[in-house]
Amino acid sequence: MKTQQFISGKGVAFFILILFFQNSFSQPKQNVNQVEAKIIDNNLTVYLGGGGNSGILVTDSAVVVIDTKMGTEAENLYTLAKEKAGGKKIIVINTHYHGDHTKGNMFYKGCKIYIGSYDKSFLAKNVERENMPTDFVTKELKLNLGDETVQIYNLGQAHTFQDVVVYLENRRVMFCGDLIFNKINPVLKKESGANVDSWILALNAILMGWEITTLVPGHGAPGTKDIAIHMREYLEDMQEAAENPEKADKLKSKYKNWVEIPEMTSPEKTIEYIKENK
Ligand SMILES: [Zn+2]
Repeated sequence: MKTQQFISGKGVAFFILILFFQNSFSQPKQNVNQVEAKIIDNNLTVYLGGGGNSGILVTDSAVVVIDTKMGTEAENLYTLAKEKAGGKKIIVINTHYHGDHTKGNMFYKGCKIYIGSYDKSFLAKNVERENMPTDFVTKELKLNLGDETVQIYNLGQAHTFQDVVVYLENRRVMFCGDLIFNKINPVLKKESGANVDSWILALNAILMGWEITTLVPGHGAPGTKDIAIHMREYLEDMQEAAENPEKADKLKSKYKNWVEIPEMTSPEKTIEYIKENK
């Protein structure tokens, strides 16, 4: 395993590569080197792994790619999207700026690439020029693409300074990026803008604001709204543990089956983050 090499790389961007190697409880068993395709219907497929989870939606008038992965899998995803597109235009949406969701942007030359409205100088520092998105969603944008309407909704600061969710209205499918790590301890980085209080509010907004049949997390398996409820419960439990050290062991033990990203994420690290970022 090349775990160490990846960890010493560019932090968050590389973490997914070491996911699942070290935790026998991981659900689903996901090989990091291989992308697992989950067909939702004839025109919508979710591609798990190879960076963050991605989706390719084929509509009457365009193909929409949600999050572009990184490395070889980013190129493979682009090849698939191009095949599915035929002559149709491709539209890209990044749920947030982290490299495991955006490092494939470089392949989509000439395409519109949407992301939340981060500070431009922040993006310039944190996203390579060739992967830079082209269009910025401040609040809400609807793309009417014929047989599907795609909503891009900016939920503001949560996992990063500007997290957007992507909602497919007719299908009631939502891609929520790293607002949800399904049964995986989440990545919290101060420099990214991670804020647990507003993250919980964003999860509340997801739970109350949309009818959802399938919720696609940034990492881990898709599910129902339950996976948002679990994520919220995790964050609330870690907040409680941060305030009540005597309860910490019991609260942490609820998540012993959640994947830990070595040296990056664990219940303990989440508690530390909350304490340090009051
Ligand atoms: Zn992320």
